[in-house]
Amino acid sequence: MLLFSSVIITGTGIVLSFLSIWMIYTFLRERVLRAVLWSVALFFIPGIMIFLFAGSLPSSFSTGMVFLIFIVTFFVILPPQVKKVPVDKAPGESLDERDIMFSRRLLRPGMPEFEDYYSRHPEKKEPDDIFRGKPGLLSPDAKLFDPFTFFAAGALFDTVETLAGDVEGGVADQKVTVNPVGMSRLLKSWAKKMGAVSSGITGLQHYHFYHTGGRSYNYGEKIVPGHKYAFAFTVEMEEGMIATGPLGPSVMESATQYLEAGKIAVVLARYIRKLGYSARAHIDGHYLVVCPLVARDAGLGEIGRMGLLMTPRLGPRVRIGVVTTDMPLQPDQYKEDRTITDFCIRCMKCADNCPVKAISSRHPKPVRGITRWQINQEACYTYWTVTGTDCGRCVAVCPYSHSDNLFHRLVRLGIRKSWLVNRLALPLDNLFYGRKPIPRQVPEWLNPDTDRITK
Ligand code: SF4
Ligand code: SF4
Repeated sequence: MLLFSSVIITGTGIVLSFLSIWMIYTFLRERVLRAVLWSVALFFIPGIMIFLFAGSLPSSFSTGMVFLIFIVTFFVILPPQVKKVPVDKAPGESLDERDIMFSRRLLRPGMPEFEDYYSRHPEKKEPDDIFRGKPGLLSPDAKLFDPFTFFAAGALFDTVETLAGDVEGGVADQKVTVNPVGMSRLLKSWAKKMGAVSSGITGLQHYHFYHTGGRSYNYGEKIVPGHKYAFAFTVEMEEGMIATGPLGPSVMESATQYLEAGKIAVVLARYIRKLGYSARAHIDGHYLVVCPLVARDAGLGEIGRMGLLMTPRLGPRVRIGVVTTDMPLQPDQYKEDRTITDFCIRCMKCADNCPVKAISSRHPKPVRGITRWQINQEACYTYWTVTGTDCGRCVAVCPYSHSDNLFHRLVRLGIRKSWLVNRLALPLDNLFYGRKPIPRQVPEWLNPDTDRITK
């Protein structure tokens, strides 16, 4: 018995020691000193102590420890008990694109659209006048202005705009016959080759489309749902850049991935049109569909507390691209992942870290007929116009946003499959990264104070 206990305790000590070394390595690579120190304190020392003293412990103590190890193992294997979060999947009505901040920010006094919008929504005029009085997104007068990242983001957004002329186009006269299953596989593999991290297909529903356009090129135009299928994909925003949010590198990374998603979508839409089928790319500033809803129904994730798509692999640290088409495709089966929304109920880290408290700390509630989380978009966007960046502090602190390495993949898998990991992930995340982590340092190559850039 003593030998058995000694083997179990020593084995556990070895596992804990290796785990701690692996964690230290992971956190060093992420440059999070706090997490490195906690991994040393929490695991390395007990691991070594167990390893060294397993043979000399009193037998009653050894038996107790073995019992504890078996209990812990049981809770690791036990599947998580996940509550169903009352979030409606299908909005009863389509959204009006004119209501979103990206449309309202384009309205200027004197424009017919300005008069039209605020005569129908006088209650929005006052909050909107507040952000119109601020310096603005990427403005040189903004609080966090730095020329290197702001102008880079500007160049990237300008380049996205050059793709706008290609979102739609003529369709080849000759239709190539396609097998929906094979074609779906081809699109996914090609999107992956071009940089997408996940992709899926859904049949389009009325609520996927805005009912009325809100941008300068289609303000007030009725949007007629024209296509039967949507191919949705995500591209990754680099963790080290996003972790700097709300500083300049985060908006630069955001713009970089809007461009990547836009390029992939435009190429795929052009390709489908050459095959003889109608297709439209939905890219930044030129959406006819609500991308997070389309991506969720294509099986790419769930809508979390921030109102963003939460993917199982990268959380909200993604940009979404969509191509709608009438080419026959094989829709993916949407399987609800309740562990994500259940985690959001307990976590609230994004809400606690939002500098303007734009994210609700409460349960989802009915908004225009559907139950969901909704952020205060006026407060959020006004903050962007003060800082000059798209902030992204909420995305940066989300426990699902950590680097896509083996360690964090195992944690995310554990949240889905293991009771103990599901329960410990949040407190340990708070301990290792801090409940209110400070923005990560600007990467060396982007630091405007270094000689490399300024001289
Ligand atoms: S920070 Fe927490 S509450 Fe917010 S989206 Fe991420 S998991 Fe959900
Ligand atoms: S982007 Fe910033 S201001 Fe907007 S909700 Fe997230 S943390 Fe809040």
